Amino acid sequence: MARQRSGELKPAAPAPSSRAPRSFESGFPVGNGLLTILPGDLLDRLAPHLQLIQLKRQEVLCRAHHPLREVYFPITAIVSLVSELESGEMLEVGLIGRDGVVGTAVVPGVTAMTCDAIVQVPGSALRMSADLVRREVQADGSLHTVIDRYNQLLLTRCMRMSVCNMFHAVEQRCVRWLLTVNGLNGNKDIPMTHETLAVMLGVHRPTVTMVLGSLRRAGLILEQRGRMIIRDRAAMEAAACECYAIMRDEQHQLLGY
Ligand SMILES: [Zn+2]
Repeated sequence: MARQRSGELKPAAPAPSSRAPRSFESGFPVGNGLLTILPGDLLDRLAPHLQLIQLKRQEVLCRAHHPLREVYFPITAIVSLVSELESGEMLEVGLIGRDGVVGTAVVPGVTAMTCDAIVQVPGSALRMSADLVRREVQADGSLHTVIDRYNQLLLTRCMRMSVCNMFHAVEQRCVRWLLTVNGLNGNKDIPMTHETLAVMLGVHRPTVTMVLGSLRRAGLILEQRGRMIIRDRAAMEAAACECYAIMRDEQHQLLGY
């Protein structure tokens, strides 16, 4: 594989799935989009510090306004960014999978996230010390640029989700959520309870049960104990509000995958 000069980002064009996956010297495929677009010499420098781990469901990776200790690059795991009120009510304000990184509070002057990060779908991730990432961000402009771009993506998604939550029907929002999760790890089999999905969407559990029942009867999904399985992705895309496609296109524009 041709190496790139230090500080030079790959052009934001080809999807990772369209080419052979890059891998570390250990042979383990990178499996995370952000790492995939880093220059080769930078990735090789980070590799010894990236630890492959398994994340458990509901594991808290970081708390809002607490010093960020570790950064996570999900591979098959999916993580919710959750904003919580003093009353204990919470709402999902972002979802992160193999498209990005949990812990963008590593740029100069920023030491903590402003929301909690909680594992929604268990799976693998690469973990690295936040201080080491901060050092690399200061030393290498390309890592800073990639994290800035991802922060921009999180911001645009969050803005879109707030409009979606306000104006779009819960059925459409539920479909958007399932499609997004499917896109974040490629798995159509989503381990998720009605209770948790209701919390993420900011609605009552019976509402989620009713919506999933209608999706099931329409043949769009299957349900098994504690799992939701996408049967007909094309029909799901047709049933989603426009927000799903807009958020997906923003990712392509900003990150090239
Ligand atoms: Zn919407």
